[in-house]
Amino acid sequence: MSIIPNDKLDKHECPLAVIRCIDWRFRNSDQEFVEKVLGFADFDLFSWPGAAKEVLKNNGFKTSFIEKIMSVSRNLHNAKKLLLLWHWDCGGYGGSKAFTTADEEEKTYRRDIQTVKDMLAKELPEDQEIIMAYSKKVPQGLEYTIVE
Ligand SMILES: [Zn+2]
Repeated sequence: MSIIPNDKLDKHECPLAVIRCIDWRFRNSDQEFVEKVLGFADFDLFSWPGAAKEVLKNNGFKTSFIEKIMSVSRNLHNAKKLLLLWHWDCGGYGGSKAFTTADEEEKTYRRDIQTVKDMLAKELPEDQEIIMAYSKKVPQGLEYTIVE
């Protein structure tokens, strides 16, 4: 048996829900970005291959995702913010090798995050704030950009 201390079990609310890719290489950095850069210690975490890219297909994933954001993150945990977090070299896109240039890769991510945001914003309540960000590989590690 193992016991891991946890001081959050009696809390019921968090301000933010995050959807990120399942890619394990980015998990610790993503967590650090959300906690230390964005300043959210508590957040619901949705993780799916390609983050929320699947929403672009306008299929059952989108319907389920919106339903869970509403029923769990928003109505149960009172999370009024949603972060869409993409990452460089994402297997959901075939990795960086699927792009001719780094510029093309970045433009594709930025376009898709924006489209997903617009699609979700149409169906979520007006006061649901949607934040967009992505991480890019640099020699020192990962550079996170918040899309304005
Ligand atoms: Zn990925």
